[in-house]
Amino acid sequence: MAFDIEMIKAVYERMPARVEAARKLVGRPLTLTEKILYSHLWEGTPTSTFKRGVSYVDFAPDRVAMQDATAQMALLQFMQAGRPKVAVPSTVHCDHLIEAKVESKTDLSVAVNKNKEVYDFLSSVSDKYGLGFWKPGAGIIHQVVLENYAFPGGMMIGTDSHTVNAGGLGMIAIGVGGADACDVMAGLAWELKFPKLIGVKLTGKLNGWTSAKDVILKVAGILTVKGGTGAVVEYFGEGVTSMSCTGKGTIANMGAEIGATTSTFGYDESMARYLASTGRADVAALADTVKEHLTADPEVYADPATYFDQVIEIDLDTLEPHLNGPFTPDLATPISKMKELAEKNGWPTKVEVGLIGSCTNSSYEDISRAASLARQVAAKGLKTKAEYTITPGSEQVRYTIERDGFIDTFESIGGKVFSNACGPCIGQWARPGAEKGEKNTIVHSFNRNFAKRADGNPNTYAFVGSPELVTALAIAGDLTFNPLTDYLTNEAGEQVKLDAPTGDELPTKGFAVEDAGYQAPAEDGSSVEVKVSPTSDRLQLLDPFKAWEGTDLKGLKLLIKAKGKCTTDHISMAGPWLKYRGHLDNISNNMLIGALNYFNEKTDNVKNQLIGEYGPVPATQRAYKAAGIGTIVVGDSNYGEGSSREHAAMEPRHLGVRVVLVKSFARIHETNLKKQGMLAITFANEADYDLIQEDDSIDIIGLTTFAPGVQLQVVLNHADGSSDTIAVNHSYNDQQIEWFKAGGALNIIRANVGK
Ligand code: SF4
Repeated sequence: MAFDIEMIKAVYERMPARVEAARKLVGRPLTLTEKILYSHLWEGTPTSTFKRGVSYVDFAPDRVAMQDATAQMALLQFMQAGRPKVAVPSTVHCDHLIEAKVESKTDLSVAVNKNKEVYDFLSSVSDKYGLGFWKPGAGIIHQVVLENYAFPGGMMIGTDSHTVNAGGLGMIAIGVGGADACDVMAGLAWELKFPKLIGVKLTGKLNGWTSAKDVILKVAGILTVKGGTGAVVEYFGEGVTSMSCTGKGTIANMGAEIGATTSTFGYDESMARYLASTGRADVAALADTVKEHLTADPEVYADPATYFDQVIEIDLDTLEPHLNGPFTPDLATPISKMKELAEKNGWPTKVEVGLIGSCTNSSYEDISRAASLARQVAAKGLKTKAEYTITPGSEQVRYTIERDGFIDTFESIGGKVFSNACGPCIGQWARPGAEKGEKNTIVHSFNRNFAKRADGNPNTYAFVGSPELVTALAIAGDLTFNPLTDYLTNEAGEQVKLDAPTGDELPTKGFAVEDAGYQAPAEDGSSVEVKVSPTSDRLQLLDPFKAWEGTDLKGLKLLIKAKGKCTTDHISMAGPWLKYRGHLDNISNNMLIGALNYFNEKTDNVKNQLIGEYGPVPATQRAYKAAGIGTIVVGDSNYGEGSSREHAAMEPRHLGVRVVLVKSFARIHETNLKKQGMLAITFANEADYDLIQEDDSIDIIGLTTFAPGVQLQVVLNHADGSSDTIAVNHSYNDQQIEWFKAGGALNIIRANVGK
């Protein structure tokens, strides 16, 4: 599907010299993660070393992948860059906007109608700028990437947190915001803090009921949802080589649930088999030529404590199937303990629905193992107690499992097949009765189980398990059922036991598909027209932001002094606003509506200094904009933590906020503000936060001599005629100062096109 073999060849050709240079510089054997990172430096062959958890490093990723919800703003911004084509191979995947309601075909056609303008835009912009476009129904981004694009030793970024899934095929694959994707597609470097390294050694071999999913459920229990933050998790050991490539994908996928930057695995035969089975034997043959660079140096795995910042060891021989939840993916419970814990915690034990599939667990192996259990329902005279749904990860998987009879098997136990899309995994599940908010339990093989995530009901207790365990629990209809030890009563009143699941790693007859849903871009896209209706409320072409006027900023009104935590969710809320991710003006109506006003302790209620009345933040800001008056937002510590969504920086910029002054920034948000041409500054003395008054008119002094490391002055003109002048810091480097002056990084890229 147009994977770029020449690009992969080039990566492998330069890898040996770069790895060797890095090994010399670092002065010791290298982990796999280090080899991939050092061979993807923006500067080329490494000339210096980096400190884990400290150094910010510029990288040159090989690929970009985007899902439909995040691709809209990324591509609208890319259009601003003025480039005729994307600089690296990039793809768009239509998966997030499809609701699961009736069954796959009906749901897909509803989604195609409902989201037509978004799909038309994504399709035409992909066509024009050289991106591969995966139509609605083609599958979920991470499954499609694994099947078509991931390759050992590669580096990719993607606008979705589960981009990390491609680590199962030996990549360093990292989830980013749309602005980062835009930069890389425009041919710029991508910055990342050099990660810390966690080594996970897997001994023994998966057996019986235990699957790859249980490895990551166990790891999540050990590390918790924050334990992987800032780190890459590298798996190794005999347990890894005996595991399927798609099993590795499942483990890498849920690395997002421990906050890890990404996870990866060394190249092995399971990857070669998977590549060959998915039509990429040539990639495997190329990987074989550099295979010593596609795994760590032997000394590393022999003595992991010396080379990793943290090492965890898990014995697969004794690992039990786990169920994690409810409400958090790190609450790990071995199945043998579930009865006791469910009773103790009052978790509802009747399983209402079992859901398998998603980007996390819809490999051929997963499906075939789940089907081996479904077949036992009839064979043992059982009746499935819970509802049961299947969400295939791609059309290729769906077509193949249908050919091999698994869909018939699932349907024979009452299973319902949803579209090849995110559906119930991301709240796109029109579950009948969910609005009643009743307490109930579901089990699924997805990755996240936060409250409301699947069906919008805060009282749905969602537990995450392997597809095999989910199927067994759906058959039993009981959360406390332990298939390893417990018996079920069949329709004839006999006691029967389920046999352990069995399945095939890969289809013996090979994968098949009639129409995978891929649309190649035009060879020459220059005449392709990008389709955006001027009356659309979901999409809006962007206009370049205005350049800095060349003077100090005087007479800015205080828009809000935010108190306490102010995350990107407070600045640009998600939920119902997701719909407007491609329409900057409409989504700006959520700007800062979650932030707490210091002066009245209310959210979305600030003083409009022009009329002396209180009103919603966006409306107040629009009034200042209409009057041609710039504003300033003041915030507390770690302002802008949370997701990397660029909307949190674009909305204030669009509505005319000029400055964000805080005690400290979350780094990604600070960078996003800089990229959009905003002035992001911090109090030199944090206590000066207390000097800001509600009716202040504020001047920023020193911009005409704006320089790295040089403080600026802020004059607070109070309503009583008094004033305070305070010093503020900034972290702009020379290039970022140019972004500020030009009114945003994209304005610079556009100005440089063709130079
Ligand atoms: Fe994200 Fe779920 Fe879709 Fe996977 S299936 S990409 S986790 S929403």
